[in-house]
Amino acid sequence: MEKNIKVFKFGGASVKDATAIRNVVRILKMYKKESLFVVVSAMGKTTNALEKVIHAFFENKEESVQLLKAVEKQHLEEVANLFKKNSTAAVEKDIAKLVGEVEQFINNSKSKEYDFVYDQIVSLGELLSTTIVAAYLNQQKISTQWVDARKNIKTDKTYREGNIDWVASQKKISKNVKPLLQKGVMGLTQGFIGSAKDKTTTTLGREGSDFTAAIFSYCLDAESMSIWKDVPGILTADPRLFKKVEKIDRLSYKEAIEMTYYGAKVIHPKTIKPIQNKNIPMYVKSFVEPKGEGTFIGANVDAHYPPVVVVEKSQVMLQISTKDFSFVAEHHLSFIFQLFTKYRTKVNMMQNMAISFSVCVTQKDEERLTKLIAELKKTFNVVIEKELELITVRHYHKSVIEQLKKHKIVLLEERIRQTIQMVVKDVPVMERV
Ligand code: ADP
Ligand code: ASP
Ligand code: MG
Repeated sequence: MEKNIKVFKFGGASVKDATAIRNVVRILKMYKKESLFVVVSAMGKTTNALEKVIHAFFENKEESVQLLKAVEKQHLEEVANLFKKNSTAAVEKDIAKLVGEVEQFINNSKSKEYDFVYDQIVSLGELLSTTIVAAYLNQQKISTQWVDARKNIKTDKTYREGNIDWVASQKKISKNVKPLLQKGVMGLTQGFIGSAKDKTTTTLGREGSDFTAAIFSYCLDAESMSIWKDVPGILTADPRLFKKVEKIDRLSYKEAIEMTYYGAKVIHPKTIKPIQNKNIPMYVKSFVEPKGEGTFIGANVDAHYPPVVVVEKSQVMLQISTKDFSFVAEHHLSFIFQLFTKYRTKVNMMQNMAISFSVCVTQKDEERLTKLIAELKKTFNVVIEKELELITVRHYHKSVIEQLKKHKIVLLEERIRQTIQMVVKDVPVMERV
């Protein structure tokens, strides 16, 4: 009988070193009897390290290769910690091949297209982590097939933010992955990466591995999808920012999509739609306490939610006003939004006044934002305020809002039914002379 497929996703923290990888393998052994498809991110902070390699590609190629070698060394050290002595040759050879391909790209490519170069290099992180984890699983007698995500996740050529070609991806996954799982072999693939029609590598946006798991879940008609994190489940706020947080046991797809849309860092915002569309139950579970219940996300959850706080840092407010004191009219707004679309800049919050229009955006890509502002300034006056926070509270209570506003100046505020949003900055410290 055909078994139902479960899709698991392990993020960077869960595979950050040899000890963490051993823990992942322990979890996978708990599900030995299941039909599993596993998505894995790059180890620890590898993606950040590779971003430095990419930066150096445009400045100094020699330094770029040196930084690449440092990434390789780090992986080889974890391999030495993970595998038994004298059993590392095969995996070391695979690592050398993958790193060699990127080194060759660095030395030979003259491309000036930042986003294209980014994807060709940054994808190495997931290729390395999955190569190591798959080899270790096989050594541990868990029959595992390394699957190349680039041959299954097909996108357009929007480098760094590939748009999924669902028809092509579905075809590839049905042909390549389904038969494998039916044979009782576990499939293991890279999060975050895919490829365009011309086979060049693309990526799905930072933190995109959750989305990869959702794409595979959708195309494999998975029975469920679980993402394994360093937290017990979805909490009422980011535990790095707030002390008193509680786990939410059950969330509706709608509530989960709202939270991630407003910037809750625990799940990538594109993850919920595909699993909602096929009504696939999703779990957020702890790799530290794998037997814990975690958070369930699904349809028909009729919960009474506590206040949920989402804080997005690095916000920039642009106050765009007409140069001649005329009202901000529809044709101005239409023009402004065309520019936001052109520079792929998401508007997190906006407010319209007589002669000005204020928007809050994330300061993610400095270059894109600078170009956007330069173009806006040709037509409008633009006042820029940086280093702000966007705080969103769902199901808010008055007391929570009061606490959040302490020592803050509120620049923009908006309330819509159960949601309140505020753009804030710290009250400047008044130092006595
Ligand atoms: P991954 O290893 O899959 O990349 P992330 O580090 O991206 O995982 O996401 C897990 C982190 O998200 C947690 O360590 C936590 O600090 C943060 N986080 C932010 N908001 C929340 C929230 N509401 N609930 C749980 N974790 C949250
Ligand atoms: N490794 C990628 C990143 O750090 C993707 C992911 O971890 O989801 O952004
Ligand atoms: Mg992550």
